[in-house]
Amino acid sequence: MKTAIYPGSFDPMTLGHLDVIERAASMFDTLTVSVLNNKAKSPLFSVEERVKILQEATGHLSNVHVDSFSGLLIDYCKEKDVHIVIRGLRAVTDFEYELQVAQTNRMLSHGDVDTLFLTTSLEYAYLSSSSVKEIAAFGGDIRQCVPEFMVQRVYDKFKRGE
Ligand code: ADP
Repeated sequence: MKTAIYPGSFDPMTLGHLDVIERAASMFDTLTVSVLNNKAKSPLFSVEERVKILQEATGHLSNVHVDSFSGLLIDYCKEKDVHIVIRGLRAVTDFEYELQVAQTNRMLSHGDVDTLFLTTSLEYAYLSSSSVKEIAAFGGDIRQCVPEFMVQRVYDKFKRGE
């Protein structure tokens, strides 16, 4: 069985993430999309909400599972017996950071965990979770950034904060 883990904050998930998920899911027997529970960040959506959103967005992909984790990614990979991590690359700005993380994970896992990069589809190259939050905070149109069912949920987060 070929399996992989796609970890991330997904706060919130965007169409760029979904594109990476769909492409990775077609390459592996199973793909686990896992929300990082990063206590250092104060997120817009709770981990539980992000898991639920990812489950709804990937309902059409029978080999995709959604989970969450905290702590080191390589420990989580070991626990799941998975050796491949998926990450997306948008531009050179992602590259330096992603390369460092991938090499660190290889070193820490003694070569047991490798990272596979998928380059972004051009139509989503500009998309990031932080720009979605910024646009939504000012009431801008996010319909081209997230799936339809998420649009109101993102706006609602900002209404509650007013
Ligand atoms: P993190 O906080 O771990 O970077 P993100 O949720 O921001 O988590 O991103 C998770 C992964 O998805 C990263 O590898 C990131 O580069 C990738 N990603 C984010 N947005 C896009 C996009 N528009 N196209 C392709 N990959 C993306």
